[in-house]
Amino acid sequence: MEPTQQKSTEPIDDKYTEIMQKAFDNAVSGTANYSSIDKEERFTEGSGYRGIHRCSCGETSGNKDYLLENGMIKHDF
Ligand SMILES: [Zn+2]
Repeated sequence: MEPTQQKSTEPIDDKYTEIMQKAFDNAVSGTANYSSIDKEERFTEGSGYRGIHRCSCGETSGNKDYLLENGMIKHDF
């Protein structure tokens, strides 16, 4: 990610972070094969990737995807 402005010095706690927190509260961590578009969808609970993502501000992601209660799969970056 390449944000154009400085990051906030204080954590933001607004309706969007509340929505994301609720979405992740009961999520299951693991890895998905969504980059293999010609293969059957698969989510492997408990596993992780070998790499992480790093934002231009220095923050890093974890190495897992999250299967949300609504069936969506989301990375934590
Ligand atoms: Zn950043």
